[in-house]
Amino acid sequence: MNTLKIETALILSMKRLSFIALLLSFLVLILPLSMSAQMENEFIKFDKTLRLNYVFTGGINPIQISLSNLGSYEGWWGRRYNLDKLPVQGNGKIYLRDSASSKLLYINSFSTLFSEWLTTDEAKRTNKAFENVFLVPMPLKKAEVTIELYGVDNSPMAVYTQYIDPGDILIKPYTVISETDAQVGDVGGIKYKYIHRGGSSKECIDVVIVSEGYTKEQEDKFYSDCTLSAEEILKYEPFNTYRNRFNFVALFVESKESGVSIPGKQIWKETALGSQFNTFYMDRYLTTLNLFKLHDYISVVPYEHIIILANTANYGGGGIYNSYILSAVDNSWHKPVVVHEFGHSFGALADEYFYDDGVMNQYKPGIEPWEPNITTLANFESKWKDMLSPDYKIVTKQMQGKDYLNTLKAKDYKVGVYEGGGYQSQGVYRPFPTCRMRDNRYPTFCPVCERAIKSMILFNTEEL
Ligand SMILES: [Zn+2]
Repeated sequence: MNTLKIETALILSMKRLSFIALLLSFLVLILPLSMSAQMENEFIKFDKTLRLNYVFTGGINPIQISLSNLGSYEGWWGRRYNLDKLPVQGNGKIYLRDSASSKLLYINSFSTLFSEWLTTDEAKRTNKAFENVFLVPMPLKKAEVTIELYGVDNSPMAVYTQYIDPGDILIKPYTVISETDAQVGDVGGIKYKYIHRGGSSKECIDVVIVSEGYTKEQEDKFYSDCTLSAEEILKYEPFNTYRNRFNFVALFVESKESGVSIPGKQIWKETALGSQFNTFYMDRYLTTLNLFKLHDYISVVPYEHIIILANTANYGGGGIYNSYILSAVDNSWHKPVVVHEFGHSFGALADEYFYDDGVMNQYKPGIEPWEPNITTLANFESKWKDMLSPDYKIVTKQMQGKDYLNTLKAKDYKVGVYEGGGYQSQGVYRPFPTCRMRDNRYPTFCPVCERAIKSMILFNTEEL
């Protein structure tokens, strides 16, 4: 097209040529403006972030969502596309609406440890409180933020609307580095170092890697653990193909003690984020409840997704969609685990493993899970049915037998409907014999998970 324009222009008179040049320069000026107009509007400018700190409580008492406080960051690092669309439903949603017109300005979905906890026996005999932090673009006019939480049947179990005045003097401003700042820096004792920069924070997905249980002397160990973790994630498809759409920044926060708490072994440590194993009494479930503190630390850099590296050799981890992941770095399974957990927090993927006794009844018959890589067949059309031939057969648990994976060659694996997934041996189906979301020894995501992650990357970085 350009070549043709130039050749045509050459045979035109000078007067005509200068007119075309003027027209072209005008078009060049107009195009970026109209593109940015698609992203920004009279309600949002993408120059600031509104941070909302909530506490979710309940258990034996009804569920309550309460605002703790508000903050603001200079800049907006979240997505600039598809603002009124969702990639998956999640266990909860956050809506930002203009007060006067009720126009939906931004929506996002998430999961919370609180929702998981509500499915445990402990929730039948006690109340608990869980911190949650959400970031939305700062509205230019008065707005409303609504939080919805859903139960295992996907029906709303709590709804709360908070009115926001962007001029509210109680919105606390946080110090954030600017994009033009150095690759390495120190903001009030919190040190950061970019370890992978795919491009501008405005266009890329920003992942912050935070230290947990590293002492002052272990700072260099932390940076090498970060490099190893980020490189491992970027080795996997589709992250490798889209590596230029990600930034990874390491953020060092000193802990008084090395390691993290392991209550099951009566080990308690004083660490920056107070994370611990034995979450919900499960040995390998490693989480932190201190989300306000976590976000206070990381607020100095642009971030959308959070990886917490726990400086311990004890096996375990945890990953919550659009919340955070934790992984134990000195364990020999750290590399596959950090990728697996990022599959949860970034890709909204479910676990594809299961227990023969079917513990953790998170998925109910007749209700389609929102995660893209498992199904109860209640609404299989919304999952990977389009990747199968019309005469597909379900591979039942009985057909798989005890040595199923050993009897199959990896090259013969194909996308299908395999019974067993989401912790349950029956009634929940996975798309592939095995996957990074099922087995630490399997080297890739299955084709369905790969497609889901790719969709998530595109959803966050381009207009769909
Ligand atoms: Zn998978």
